[in-house]
Amino acid sequence: MTLAAYACDPALSRGRRYPEDPVPIRTDFQRDRDRIVHSSAFRRLVYKTQVFLNHEGDLFRTRLTHSLEVAQLARSIARALQLNEDLVEAIALAHDLGHTPFGHAGQDALNDCMQDYGGFEHNLQSLRVVDHLERRYPQFDGLNLTFETREGILKHCARTNAQMLEAQEPGGVARRFLDGTRPSLEAQLCNLADEIAYNAHDVDDGVRSGLITLEQLQEVALFDDIRQQVLKDHPHLVDVNQQRRLLYATIRRMLSEQVYDVIAATQSTLADTRPQNADAVRQLGPMLRFSPAMRERELPLKRFLLQNLYRHPQVMETMQQAQQVVRELFAAYMADPAAMPTPFGGSAPVVADETSLARSVADYIAGMTDRFAAREHERLSGKRLLM
Ligand code: MG
Repeated sequence: MTLAAYACDPALSRGRRYPEDPVPIRTDFQRDRDRIVHSSAFRRLVYKTQVFLNHEGDLFRTRLTHSLEVAQLARSIARALQLNEDLVEAIALAHDLGHTPFGHAGQDALNDCMQDYGGFEHNLQSLRVVDHLERRYPQFDGLNLTFETREGILKHCARTNAQMLEAQEPGGVARRFLDGTRPSLEAQLCNLADEIAYNAHDVDDGVRSGLITLEQLQEVALFDDIRQQVLKDHPHLVDVNQQRRLLYATIRRMLSEQVYDVIAATQSTLADTRPQNADAVRQLGPMLRFSPAMRERELPLKRFLLQNLYRHPQVMETMQQAQQVVRELFAAYMADPAAMPTPFGGSAPVVADETSLARSVADYIAGMTDRFAAREHERLSGKRLLM
């Protein structure tokens, strides 16, 4: 792998919180990726909702398959831009580790429950998972990942949370939210790859679910222009029995166009700004980006998915039930911490104070898979929702 000057070089890493000796064969970023793949939080992603609940169908994306698609897109773009593929893979595979069960509905409900205790934010939770909640190494809590992987995982951070992190780790991964600098290009790339991935796979899953149709998608210019090009190249796909193939071909070409666009737009910014190393990137404006034309074409697709899929009455109804599950679980554990297992307060002799109890409850709930949360809710409340 030939790295550009502006890429993150593992030999120049800002290192781990607990220093470790290098190992043969693998770089520090490869080790980060491997630690993530072997974590419990990573395995749970397979039973966590992306848009559709896990039991609604076997072919819908889950957080795991979403993360794999983000990693695939990010690696392709990284290779073309000579960025560090191992680092983007580590960030992409870890970027959703802190997601609650039931997707954004779960996160919103948990954030509401945590209002008096500092709130709940899934990016910060992803960092918490890799810094504290994975307990598998003898010498430290967490996975002890490098600064560069942790920097990429903390995609957004509210100012108050950034101040809290900065107090614990001066000059660390939260500093950029206070001084307005940027993360590495690898981190910027993973954000964009996330967006490209979900726009495409939510179209696929949306059509598969029957909640949106190919006809409706014709109102989205980005999608429809490409659909028409595909039909021109393969006229037989007009057949009503070929609609699935037409959809896949359109999505595939839409992905390619976005990937090529990002590569070209970023190369032109890099040619203008010529950052000499990875740290110079952090002082410059955002560089990993769509061209203005693609950004403009992509926004209506996002709006379409919001209006027609994420806010579809059927999705909303399921999500309301999901929120009820999260709220009632939270209340149940706050009232009876012994209902949780040991590390979360189960057999802890004294829970220090209400705020730290609430944080333990949030950590426990956030780590649950959809089906575990639904079953646990049924066990504690006697009500059967969602399953
Ligand atoms: Mg994501």
